[in-house]
Amino acid sequence: MEHKLSIYNTLSRKKEEFVPLHANKVGMYVCGPTVYGDGHLGHARPAITFDILFRYLTHIGYKVRYVRNITDVGHLENDADSGEDKVAKKARLDEVEPMEVVQYYVNRYHKAMEMLNILPPSIEPHASGHIMEQIDFVQKILDAGFAYVSEGSVYFDVEKYNLKHNYGKLSGRNVEDMLETTRELDGQSEKRRSVDFALWKKASPEHIMRWKAPWSLGFPGWHLECSAMGTKYLGEQFDIHGGGMDLMFPHHECEIAQSTAALGKETVKYWMHNNMITINGQKMGKSLGNFITLEEFFTGNHPLLTQAFSPMTVRFFILQAHYRSTVDFSSAALEASEKGLSRLMEGYARLQKLAASATSSVETAGLRDKCEEAMSDDLNTPIVISYLFDALKAINLVHDGKETISSADLGELKAVFSLFIEDLLGLKAENEAGSGNEAYKKAIDLLLNMRLEAKQNKDWATSDKIRNELTALGFEIKDTKDGFEWKI
Ligand code: ZN
Repeated sequence: MEHKLSIYNTLSRKKEEFVPLHANKVGMYVCGPTVYGDGHLGHARPAITFDILFRYLTHIGYKVRYVRNITDVGHLENDADSGEDKVAKKARLDEVEPMEVVQYYVNRYHKAMEMLNILPPSIEPHASGHIMEQIDFVQKILDAGFAYVSEGSVYFDVEKYNLKHNYGKLSGRNVEDMLETTRELDGQSEKRRSVDFALWKKASPEHIMRWKAPWSLGFPGWHLECSAMGTKYLGEQFDIHGGGMDLMFPHHECEIAQSTAALGKETVKYWMHNNMITINGQKMGKSLGNFITLEEFFTGNHPLLTQAFSPMTVRFFILQAHYRSTVDFSSAALEASEKGLSRLMEGYARLQKLAASATSSVETAGLRDKCEEAMSDDLNTPIVISYLFDALKAINLVHDGKETISSADLGELKAVFSLFIEDLLGLKAENEAGSGNEAYKKAIDLLLNMRLEAKQNKDWATSDKIRNELTALGFEIKDTKDGFEWKI
């Protein structure tokens, strides 16, 4: 492999050179959304972060199997081992089938992901479709002696596990402290210790999502699905497990404990976590009134937003920060990103129209290597973006006739821009091309070419008519020495 990728492994707390377990194949698992809620920015960040990783691993030559799950069962109201199942509750309130609730949210999530230009994963398993695998997994943990049955439910024995392994190794938490500080929970009496977590829960009479297991009619605990589906599709040992930092504890810590208990070995080689998003400096939360869905961003229909922001603006905004740093959303910050993205995409469009000269007076060599190096350094997208902005200066100088570029340099510059902007950062033209609609873009070009012809024929009436009517529709038209440029 020519390109060396280094990634930050949460488990070792340092950057490590990425060495896959199996030659050129990579197995990657990312915790997907829980379907009870509206798709919001908190969903966009891990999806974009691991989309970049997926794209980059593929670019440097790996065959990646990317599994991103859908949590549609076992996610209880208070994120612990008690309360009603969120999907079941919504289904009960709306008098629909739980799977109707799931389908509704999955459709909305997919639509938002597509708008954000996020590549679909290789496999998208649902927790509800893998109950058998989860029951088998619970049985393995019981057989290994790290779980116990209590009143028809099965709990993971954290204290016993910790005698042999290290519970807390990922999040850096200390079990002894947790035993003392964990607050009392409803239904806790079934558990031996408050830190123990449910692998299987016996369903209460009103709980409608339930399956038959050796211990009771019930449902799996939330953490179990990722252990069961990850190993089913990627094997007992696989390369990368990712997700948001908020999942590190308890979710990922529990996953490690479950897999180690059931399989007797570490399953995941590299754990990766994206940092969180705040809104105007505050944590996002429904009760705080600052919970903005992706749809609201795209329509601008929220009191905290000054305008609509396109999916590519949201994507660009997220990529302007390194995935391990926090990001604070505000309308002002998004407006700045919108301007930046528009400059970048205009420069990219301008690059396509540059004329080559015999020699280059601008320095563009080395751009590809610098960008590759930044991407290989734990996916440093803000640095890649800054290199592309540096290159814009050269593009604009050549465009203005102040500098020249040779045909070889121009070809390379076009290739590098296309690779990084479109293939790796996943940005696509929206404004210039009317949400990426090629036919629309060509129709405007056609009209403006007709206007050029009219001008050459001194048919000022037609030329002015086309210009004025397009301007009235909101198009900004600029005459250049090679013809024209336009945007909406
Ligand atoms: Zn998970």
